[in-house]
Amino acid sequence: MDYKWENWSGMVQCQPKEFLAPKTEEEVVKIVQRAANDRRKIRVVGSGHSFSHLVYTKDILINLDNLSGLVEVDREKGEATVWAGTKIKKLGELLFEKGLAMENMGDIDVQSIAGATATGTHGTGITFGNISTQIVGMTIVTGRGEVLYTSATENEKYFKAAQISLGTLGVVTQIKLKLLPAYNLAIKLSKAKFDETLEKLEYHNANNRNFEFYNFPYSDIVQLRETNLTEIQPKKDGMVRYFNDVFLENAVFGALSKFSKTFPRYSQTISKIVAQGAVVTTKINHSHHIFATIRTVRFNEMEYNIPMEHYKEVVKIMRKRFDEHQYRVHFPIENRFVQADDIWLSPAYERFSAYIAIHSYKGMAYEPYFSDMEAIFKEFGGRPHWGKMHNRSGADLASLYPKWNDFHQVRKELDPEGIFLNDYLKGVFES
Ligand SMILES: Cc1cc2nc3c(=O)[nH]c(=O)nc-3n(C[C@H](O)[C@H](O)[C@H](O)COP(=O)(O)OP(=O)(O)OC[C@H]3O[C@@H](n4cnc5c(N)ncnc54)[C@H](O)[C@@H]3O)c2cc1C
Repeated sequence: MDYKWENWSGMVQCQPKEFLAPKTEEEVVKIVQRAANDRRKIRVVGSGHSFSHLVYTKDILINLDNLSGLVEVDREKGEATVWAGTKIKKLGELLFEKGLAMENMGDIDVQSIAGATATGTHGTGITFGNISTQIVGMTIVTGRGEVLYTSATENEKYFKAAQISLGTLGVVTQIKLKLLPAYNLAIKLSKAKFDETLEKLEYHNANNRNFEFYNFPYSDIVQLRETNLTEIQPKKDGMVRYFNDVFLENAVFGALSKFSKTFPRYSQTISKIVAQGAVVTTKINHSHHIFATIRTVRFNEMEYNIPMEHYKEVVKIMRKRFDEHQYRVHFPIENRFVQADDIWLSPAYERFSAYIAIHSYKGMAYEPYFSDMEAIFKEFGGRPHWGKMHNRSGADLASLYPKWNDFHQVRKELDPEGIFLNDYLKGVFES
């Protein structure tokens, strides 16, 4: 078979022997049982939006796009069970029709719900955990080919491992989420100074439902993104706004990025131009539309979770390093803040956290920028985002997670033959 797969950034590519898109859970079971009998390997792909080598396989690649939509909704309880292949955009629309919504989301909505939760995808807001904390139950076809439901009360010994599993416990077929009644949000984008933003960080976090900011290399300007509940209904000028926000922002940034790639010596000037041109506006819409942005300009990314108490020091050192090394980079740095949680492989495990994301335009050199920044993150106990680029060894990662061995035990119990491990994951769990 000549099927070639690549991730969103194009950096991870592979040629699986088989690409399968099962239409039922029974088909998933048969695929896993066959693979177990024949000593084959399986990886599952959601939307391919991870930057790390999680999905890479030369054997069987499964996609659950055909297992999409709502399975069951309990409006009273504010819970819904959804097929694991459901894309977050579609999920938002389906839930909205039922008067429900996710409490928080990341900054895009094209991921599958299983893919997003497998890597601990997060948004921002100090009263919210990452998206996996919204899971109250999961159905998994394990490496033994058995269908397992796990929640805080059923087969509970697996639950804290399953909520963020990197797809190593089996194929997730259904996810039960806790939800909120549908709500509207207003997002205010404004510009501020970097130092002032750090000084007021606690205020911003405490006074906004979801607060984040972008800072721009070689510029003092930051873009604040303050999101709050509103009773105001969205206006119907969606297409005009869409044109302004999506087309102009992406088109201009795309053109500047191409220029920066062709003439890297101008990347610092371009960063300053991008900072000056940062959009200042207010938008109101249903929550699922406000969280999601559209990204047409492709990039590579590293993101680290930093204990909140070290966050300000880390960003100050990063800025100093920019001045010293003059990296050729024009992409903004994204700063987000999330609550601690109790999920074993969550980067926010038992710590109130900041996430710092650095980016480099596709095709531009990201070294030594990424590795220099990673050294800073590492020094302050940083845990890498599982879906993004990093250079940490298995032993190194193990030392960051108090429940690492517990996770390992669950993984070995549910996938004793390691059907779901590729070389990258073997490096993570077996080195
Ligand atoms: C433009 C862009 C913006 C992003 N924004 C954010 C953001 O705001 N916040 C954030 O935290 N991250 C963000 N990410 C990272 C992204 O959310 C994660 O990498 C996420 O895991 C991608 O979801 P996916 O559906 O593409 O999964 P994939 O990348 O396809 O897979 C991710 C993992 O999930 C596993 N998996 C998928 N489906 C299943 C299944 N059914 N059963 C078992 N395992 C499964 C895969 O095997 C793999 O290990 C962004 C990435 C991009 C490219």
